[in-house]
This record gives sequence, structure tokens and C-alpha cells, in this order.
Amino acid sequence: MAKPSVLKLKQDALSDKEFMRYSAQIMLPEIGELGQITLKNANVLIVGVGGLGAPVALYLAAAGIGHLYLADDDHVELSNLQRQIIFTQAQLKQNKVRAAKDALTQLNPHIKVTTLAQRLTLDSGNRQMADMFAQVDLVIDCSDNMATRQAINKICVMQKIPLIVGAGIRMEGQLVSFNAQQADSACYHCLYPFADTAEVNNCSTSGVLGPLVGIVGSLQALEAIKYLTGMPVSSFNRLMRFDGKTLQWQHLSVVKDPHCSVCAFAK
Ligand SMILES: [Zn+2]
Repeated sequence: MAKPSVLKLKQDALSDKEFMRYSAQIMLPEIGELGQITLKNANVLIVGVGGLGAPVALYLAAAGIGHLYLADDDHVELSNLQRQIIFTQAQLKQNKVRAAKDALTQLNPHIKVTTLAQRLTLDSGNRQMADMFAQVDLVIDCSDNMATRQAINKICVMQKIPLIVGAGIRMEGQLVSFNAQQADSACYHCLYPFADTAEVNNCSTSGVLGPLVGIVGSLQALEAIKYLTGMPVSSFNRLMRFDGKTLQWQHLSVVKDPHCSVCAFAK
């Protein structure tokens, strides 16, 4: 049973400093003071603090998302610094989630960051990971492998948590989101129903340009803010593919698979 958490306590006011800090977004009619308070009360899990997770975490911290959860079991390596812009040379060899937490709390002291230096699996023994999902309003998938993506999707379907998925490789980016709270929503497995281990390509093996994952990660952060403040989310059930060479976008609708082994029979 999930224990009652002080993290869920609602705060209903902004300090003068917070007003000043977020003034550029508070002046947007779509956000306003109420939207900013909503962001302050939001709990968001970012799985993977790499090329995608770096801009997602930085933008969401800067925007005042009250509580960010970071999950990643990696350490900062020299070859990460080409695209994982949250880290610095001085943080080489450090645990990624801890290094990212330092960067985020320096950027914005008003937010809380909880870290978990673990790889996400579907093991029942991974209690801490399951607890982390139970705490959040939204999950952002910034992982770099199919097994993790399928695992995240499964938990989000079971726990009815909206999910924003990004991917970037070579000069191609992808964005797609799902809202398991809606009965007719598709899921990641409807889109990619193949075996968990089918994908071996990632940024380390196939290469990627830093700004490419920067673009996709920025869009994930944008969609997150839109979702949390009640704006329509354009990427729900919509796969958006970006070609970095031509700057062209392709949009494809994702339809729920009535035989999907993950979402079709989820209650
Ligand atoms: Zn599905």
C-alpha cells in the first residue's frame, strides 16, 4: 500500500521570488498564476538522464515543476558530454542522477529532486521503482532501449499514468504520447508490438547529433507543461517524426490495437 506522502500536499501560493522567476510564463493566458501553482504541485518522473533527459530535466526544473524524479543507473562519461548538456567535465564518473540533481537544484532552489540510481526492469523486486511511479502525475520516457521503453509503457498503462516518449538517433527524432486515463488511448506497445530485445541501436552504437536530441527533449518538456496545465496535448496518439537533414516533420496517427497484449485488457 502506498504510504501517504507529504510530497502530495498541495501548496496554493507563490512567493514573490517565484512570481518574478516565472513571470514570462505566468503572463501567458494559458498558464497564469493558477497554472504556475499547478506546476509547483506537479510530480514528474523522467526515466533516463541522457541526451533527451538532460533538456527535459533542465526545462522542467526551470519552469518550476515542484518535484522531479530522476531514474538512471549510469555514470557520466566523456562521450556523454557531446549531447548531455546537463553535465560538466567536472562531473565525469559521477552517478548521473546525483550529478543532474546538483545541476537542477543550482538552477532552481524552489524545486525538489528525488533520484533513483537503478535500471528500470519489470522485476517485482524493484519496489523503489514501482513506488516512484505511484507518486507521479506524468512519466517522461527518455530511455535509450526498447526493453526499458516497453517496461515503462506497461507500468503507465497499469497505473493509468500519462506517458511522453522521445527517441533520437543519427539525425532522426521521434515523439509520441499516450494517456492511459482515456479508455480509447493507444499505448507504446500498440505502436511497437515486437519483442523487448529487438532493438540494439542507440546513440552510442549508431551516433547522434546533440541538437537533434535537444529538439526532441525540448518538445517532451513542452508537451509535459501543456499536459500539466490542462492545454491540449498534440502528441497524444500521434507519432511525430523529425528529419534533422531536411527539417521536415511527419505525423502519423496511432490507433489502439484491440488485441494489444498490454493495453487491450487493462482495467
Ligand atoms: Zn496497447
